[in-house]
Amino acid sequence: MCKSIDPEVESNPFLVISYVMRAAARLSGLLATCEEELWITRKNPYTPEIIESSSLEQSDSRENFSIEAINVPCSLEKRVEKVILNLSSSGYFLDVIAKQLGLLNAADILISRPIGKASSETRLYFAAPKKYLLDISSDLLHAKGACNSTGSFNARASYLSGQDIYGDAVLASVGFTRRSKDLFYEDVSLQSYHRMVIGKTPSGIYKLSREGILTAELPLAFTAKAKWKGSMPWDILCTFCHQHRLEPMFTPRSTLEESSESPISHKKLKVTDLAGKETQYANGCVVDAGVNEIVESRGSFRCEVKIISKFQDIILECSPKETFKKQSDAIQNASLKVLLWLNAYFGDPTVPLERLNTSADGHNIRFDSQTFIKTFMLCQHIHNVGHNETEDGKLAYSNSLNASFALPGIELRSLSIEGPDSGVFPSIGSLACASYSVSLVTEGKHMKELLESSDDFEFEIASGAVIPHLESVIKQMTVGQSAFFSMDLPPQELVFAAAGNSARMLSLLSSETCYLEYTITLLGVTEPLEDRMEQAFFSPPLSKQRVEYAVQSIKKSCATTLVDFGCGSGSLLDSLLNYPTSLEKIAGVDISQKSLACAAKILHSKLNSNSDASTSAMKSAILYDGSITNFDSRLSGFDIGTCLEVIEHMEEDQAFEFGNVVLSLFRPRVLIVSTPNYEYNVILQKSNLSSQEDDPEDKSQAQCKFRNHDHKFEWTREQFNCWATELAARHNYSVEFSGVGGSGDTEPGFASQIAVFRHELVTKEVAFPEVSGLEQPYQAIWEWNSRDRPRSAI
Ligand code: SAH
Ligand code: MG
Repeated sequence: MCKSIDPEVESNPFLVISYVMRAAARLSGLLATCEEELWITRKNPYTPEIIESSSLEQSDSRENFSIEAINVPCSLEKRVEKVILNLSSSGYFLDVIAKQLGLLNAADILISRPIGKASSETRLYFAAPKKYLLDISSDLLHAKGACNSTGSFNARASYLSGQDIYGDAVLASVGFTRRSKDLFYEDVSLQSYHRMVIGKTPSGIYKLSREGILTAELPLAFTAKAKWKGSMPWDILCTFCHQHRLEPMFTPRSTLEESSESPISHKKLKVTDLAGKETQYANGCVVDAGVNEIVESRGSFRCEVKIISKFQDIILECSPKETFKKQSDAIQNASLKVLLWLNAYFGDPTVPLERLNTSADGHNIRFDSQTFIKTFMLCQHIHNVGHNETEDGKLAYSNSLNASFALPGIELRSLSIEGPDSGVFPSIGSLACASYSVSLVTEGKHMKELLESSDDFEFEIASGAVIPHLESVIKQMTVGQSAFFSMDLPPQELVFAAAGNSARMLSLLSSETCYLEYTITLLGVTEPLEDRMEQAFFSPPLSKQRVEYAVQSIKKSCATTLVDFGCGSGSLLDSLLNYPTSLEKIAGVDISQKSLACAAKILHSKLNSNSDASTSAMKSAILYDGSITNFDSRLSGFDIGTCLEVIEHMEEDQAFEFGNVVLSLFRPRVLIVSTPNYEYNVILQKSNLSSQEDDPEDKSQAQCKFRNHDHKFEWTREQFNCWATELAARHNYSVEFSGVGGSGDTEPGFASQIAVFRHELVTKEVAFPEVSGLEQPYQAIWEWNSRDRPRSAI
């Protein structure tokens, strides 16, 4: 009731007392109060029933027992430490806590709201207000002012509870619950205290849900429900808001329909009227410089998120521009956007306001700086305090405001990777499964304490789901290998939150120089759905069929020079070497150095060992690191160009750019381009294979997801047709459509659609536009020449 009179009581427990005492004073016929003391009693004697029901049964046979609690001193200089409360079944537990706080008895104590989980019985106990605050003859405004000026503010306790707490406080889990007549009690360890603290940050909530405090990190991207491990972004944001006593509001909108949908609050996914309709159209529709109105929208849902204070102030508003095919994806993505921005703030709460503003723009976030700072002010005293790493180190550990993967400052120390190279590496978008352990080690390795470990930790590669250092190591590993490295200590709150035996940790950390030592073994990788699906559904696998199709075309064309745009790990170039062809010169281009390294390895061994006719005609092979949206004069005028399953890995506007660059500047005689047929996904995703990936709720949705989480788009036959036809016409090529997997004659067409472009026979000027020989942005990373072929092999 006090709340409805004055919302400020939310955060000011002293004010509640003032209100209650004033109310009690008005009922002087029934209740007795004392101006000086913190009690209220009935004037009439209690009925026997009341006495009966409240009398304690002395069922607990133990006379004396002790529990662990935590002392939270108001001085930030003093450490948060364990204290033992010696309770007895005959005494009153609040008297024991009062004594611990240096107070006379239970009547001098106030108790906070529960901390942490909703079901928690853990509360903060602290000194009741000074007597003058109870002076009901003074006006309330005066009382409010007095509350705020009362001496020693306890920032840590106030931050944890969301209530203003002054003086030292004790965090304990003890009391009478509604569930039982017996006293409930539980130890509160330093570890649980630190878990409560980090549980107030987005990244901390995620870490806790993954039980990987020193390993997991709030992912930078939400690619698919099936790949997201731990609490979902939407849940994390709701938990975060709950922790800070804020209200999240989600407003998903369909961009196709005129009508807006209703806001969803975290409590009830209930439909209420939304004030003000809004019509937005998807901007997934890409309009290229010369190409008009080609593609329809990629998705049709967008979600807006607001965070509202208890006083109904809007603290923050996020209106992402991206659209999604599913409403739930729109909600998850918008939530993640907000979380990442908030998390960057919690990682460095001293960030200047201008930088906060700049990064907010980048996240499509607007915030009220005054309300925002006021709401989260206290975290400055709590997070990353005492973490005396360099400024760089701080940034490296928490995802920086720019959410970049740069690893400034902290270097991995003594990294070693052991075990044979199995050739199976975690590619972008795949799920890696690893076992790991993290230990605290003292300089000189006198002591080693295990902090955290897991036998089976799964996470998505390249989404930032683990700390950047670990991610960079994993990317260098192959399945079966183990890696060892050490790094500087993260903020102490994380060490304590992970450590089971905090007392030992405390003595180690304060007496010695320590660092963390990681051991990790990569147990396996699960490829993106596309690869598994293509192997399970098509025989031979779809990828084989694509390569086969290209090989046949190449043979027919009698080409001597070939360039594979987006060659990846070289599957096409490799296969070409299995057949006798007229090819003499082959080249591959890709932006993935890892894939290129793989391709180089395969081609190198094949070209140097093959003695049969198929490769004897081959004169040179070369691999370039470069983006195929850029022109490089060294690859101009080749006979044939291939670009298999690449364009969908670029943004749509880049796919248009590539089309223009390849047909106007590279100008191969023949160009073969393949890309998934989106319409075929219905068939693929009706299968068990994909339903294992997702939950049942999703299966019912008519909309399909993409085949691979790295895909930026997947086109229908019509979209692909438009793209190719327009390009061909503009650059004087003819184009034919075909495909592999399924049939072109029955709905929904081929699984993989293919366009084959051919030069029209035209005048020389058009066929060979002027190109500058100086444009060589690609970097050759591997090269082979027939002269290099070992003599013995010929
Ligand atoms: N053509 C190969 C690989 C397909 S996977 C095959 O059929 O097996 C898609 C590849 O496109 C990836 O290796 C990726 O690194 C590459 N890629 C994506 N965008 C690119 C760009 N702008 N320039 C060059 N390669 C690109
Ligand atoms: Mg692909």
